[in-house]
Amino acid sequence: SAFYSSVVAGAQERTLVAVKPDGVQRRLVGDIIKRFEQRGFKLVGLKMLQASESTLADHYHDLRRKPFYPSLIRYMASGPVVAMVWEGHNVVRSSRFMVGDTDSAQAKPGTVRGDFSVHISRNVVHASDSVEVAEREISLWFHSAELVNWENSDQSDLYQV
Ligand code: GDP
Ligand code: MG
Repeated sequence: SAFYSSVVAGAQERTLVAVKPDGVQRRLVGDIIKRFEQRGFKLVGLKMLQASESTLADHYHDLRRKPFYPSLIRYMASGPVVAMVWEGHNVVRSSRFMVGDTDSAQAKPGTVRGDFSVHISRNVVHASDSVEVAEREISLWFHSAELVNWENSDQSDLYQV
């Protein structure tokens, strides 16, 4: 149907979500993945890594003159992060709502930050804030070969008679 094809045609938007070092330390990786899966988004990239200073400097380039920038880079380099690429209709905007306000005190309950964080300096998760930024961040954190195009299967992964 026209509805179905418009949904499929719009389903290619992608965003970068990353569980920050505090989220990994606090064992929140599974919870965060679960929220995106149950919302209906498709996981197309996933890796754990220790972010390099140069990746972080590039990622937070726009914030380089902020007073909190050195501590932000130290925080983000303090341990491994889990970087993910999620795909789906309006995934950039939806992810921002799911992650919640940057300032944890303003983040609504039900959001990742509103459920797990009390301060802006340790806010558990990152999500790209626009489609253009998402494209830039995905290419910064992932090689194209690390992104997987996969289609929904029929029932054959549940049983074969
Ligand atoms: P985000 O897109 O919601 O992550 O927020 P920003 O792009 O504005 O800032 C990037 C990250 O920098 C935030 O997620 C925080 O980890 C950190 N940050 C932003 N503002 C502050 C601040 O005022 N103090 C501290 N300590 N960290 C901040
Ligand atoms: Mg941001």
